[in-house]
Amino acid sequence: MGWERIRGHDANVAKLQSAFARSRLAHAYLFVGPDGIGKRLFAEEFTKAILCEHPPAALVACDRCPSCAQVASKTHPDVTRAAKPDDKLELPVEVVRSFCMQLGLKPSRGSRKVAILEDADSFNDESANCFLKTLEEPPPGSVLILLANSTEQQLPTILSRVQILRFHPLSVPDLERVLTLHEVGDAAEIARLARIGAGSVGVALSLAGAELGEFRAVLLNAMIQTRPDSPALAEKWLRFTEDAGKDGAAQRGRTSAVLRLLIAQLQAALRLAFGSPVDELDAEERGQLAVLARNAGPDGLMAMLEACVEAERLIDRRVQLALILEQLADKLCPVRTRL
Ligand SMILES: [Zn+2]
Repeated sequence: MGWERIRGHDANVAKLQSAFARSRLAHAYLFVGPDGIGKRLFAEEFTKAILCEHPPAALVACDRCPSCAQVASKTHPDVTRAAKPDDKLELPVEVVRSFCMQLGLKPSRGSRKVAILEDADSFNDESANCFLKTLEEPPPGSVLILLANSTEQQLPTILSRVQILRFHPLSVPDLERVLTLHEVGDAAEIARLARIGAGSVGVALSLAGAELGEFRAVLLNAMIQTRPDSPALAEKWLRFTEDAGKDGAAQRGRTSAVLRLLIAQLQAALRLAFGSPVDELDAEERGQLAVLARNAGPDGLMAMLEACVEAERLIDRRVQLALILEQLADKLCPVRTRL
């Protein structure tokens, strides 16, 4: 599969193909955009196209030559990849040093080398300085691809030496098409995931599965009780989170996935509160959300949404999940005065 497997980023494909045709490919690119929208897949296809031995057109991979096969199986000797280890908050200097060293070696198959560095938002001073040396004097014939969520964390010295390519969240129809390839469920499930997936394949996939859907229903049910029990809700949510396994990243991922579902529900409840059409709900969910909208009112729903966004921020900052969920549950189960 060539570029056709990449959805929603046609403008970037065209930009690179045009640069390539004019022999104006940059030495370093910074791919910027939210997680899960296909930056990594795009970088892989770009790499394959750069190194292809029998390209059928400018910057198009043949998908048949040995080089294409090696890029696809991640065994190409002239492709270097590195990312932040899961248990680290920053890109360690050792990782960056070995990445730069490998890029500096002579190519073994052809005349080009490609290096893909993920998590380029996470340099620390030491690893950024180490990387800058390579960026200032890139080995001839090499192409560096950095992947990052934003340009905010980047040092001006890095920004000034890379070409920035922006990636935007996928449209709902594009996301639906990609999810269909992933076979995550029937058409209705795919349509639902595409709507709440925030334009990100990664997010949408994290929201798939019956277990999560069932927990979402439990959560909503707890929130619409006449006397919502916030400690019990926090406890239930924490237990569900811990069922994801001992790994901290898996627990945070599951907590975030529930939060995303909850945010989508609160947004739907807000639309109900304002009398706007809400098509995506089944009868039961619509009934529950109508109760929530009536109980909380638009201001209450907004406060809950803000609490969810704050919880997302705290998860990113690795605050203890039990604390986050206790605080959040209090906001989701406000004591009502008219009992
Ligand atoms: Zn090829």
